[in-house]
Amino acid sequence: MTKQNKAFKFRLLPNKEQAVLLAKTFGSVRFVYNKMLGERKETYEKFKDDKETLKKQKFPTPAKYKGEFPFLKEVDSLALANAQINLQTAYQNFFEGNAEFPTFKNRKAKQSYTTNLVNGNIELKDGHIKLPKLKLVKIKQHREIPENYKLKSCTISRTNSGKYYVSVLTEYEKDIQPKKIETVVGLDFAMAELYVSSENEKANYPRYYRVMSEKLAKEQRILSKRKKGSARWNKQRLVVTKLHEKVANQRMNFLHHKSKELASTFDAVVIEDLNMKGMCQALRFGKSVHDNGWGMFTTFLGYKLKEQGKQLVKIDKWFPSTKKCSCCGAEKTMKLSERTYRCSCGYVAERDYNSAINIKNEGIRLLALA
Ligand SMILES: [Zn+2]
Repeated sequence: MTKQNKAFKFRLLPNKEQAVLLAKTFGSVRFVYNKMLGERKETYEKFKDDKETLKKQKFPTPAKYKGEFPFLKEVDSLALANAQINLQTAYQNFFEGNAEFPTFKNRKAKQSYTTNLVNGNIELKDGHIKLPKLKLVKIKQHREIPENYKLKSCTISRTNSGKYYVSVLTEYEKDIQPKKIETVVGLDFAMAELYVSSENEKANYPRYYRVMSEKLAKEQRILSKRKKGSARWNKQRLVVTKLHEKVANQRMNFLHHKSKELASTFDAVVIEDLNMKGMCQALRFGKSVHDNGWGMFTTFLGYKLKEQGKQLVKIDKWFPSTKKCSCCGAEKTMKLSERTYRCSCGYVAERDYNSAINIKNEGIRLLALA
């Protein structure tokens, strides 16, 4: 039996009083996060030349601020504890060289917090969810959570347009037999199309999504011309915010759809373990890499394969997928602008398609070793 996780997301409909407490909680989580980060930053500056001493320094905890800032006692303490865990993870990623130093959260940061199930403090019943400090909050429960799924934690969030959601994380046991691998596909990350596969399939975003994204860009341009803080600016900002949420939802649905399709068609999917940060710097793609949703897509793909006993194979980011000829194995340098791979052996293929085949073959090699 393997443990599996599944999240269920519902609309949350707090009353006025609950909305006030939610706002306080979002604020307190951000406050504590920034406080701890500030302290950690100081410690880091002080000991950064002595890694061993630095490692031994205790991480600040939310509890120490409660005396000085009593409003922290009003909110869910588990939410504050999770802020600490999040910061520790972010810091650890930095320490291991995988990310930048964590940054302070400003008022525009995503409003959310996570709380955990402890002694029945969270419960779903009759269209309501019981949450620490909030008591019963109304939800739109469009689907039941199966009885054998154990509640683990809840993440409560508020979108910029003022909608509340609760994402309920559950755990369940499933008997998963490893699937014999017969069909393998390689995916090459592509900016515009999300990916090109070794079957030469381009995962083009659907037309309605592209239309909506263009509309969003247009509305954003209008917003940038309005006087900040004016009534017309505020009105336009709401238009942009709503469109933004719509586009994000469409993208997420598309990524779910594509990952499901791949996970049901193939026994193993091979991807490059892309270091997004490195890629941003190297290719100067800037913001659009993050907008592309590759990270979200590979997460979906990973668990959709896993729950069927299938595999997501990540190959080393230094593997020369672009340089290699997928026909004869020769290597050559490829300029970013070169869209076609031409080898002296006579092989000609689209750049991304050639890479996808190389990725697939490398994945097959790794699977054979395992
Ligand atoms: Zn060749």
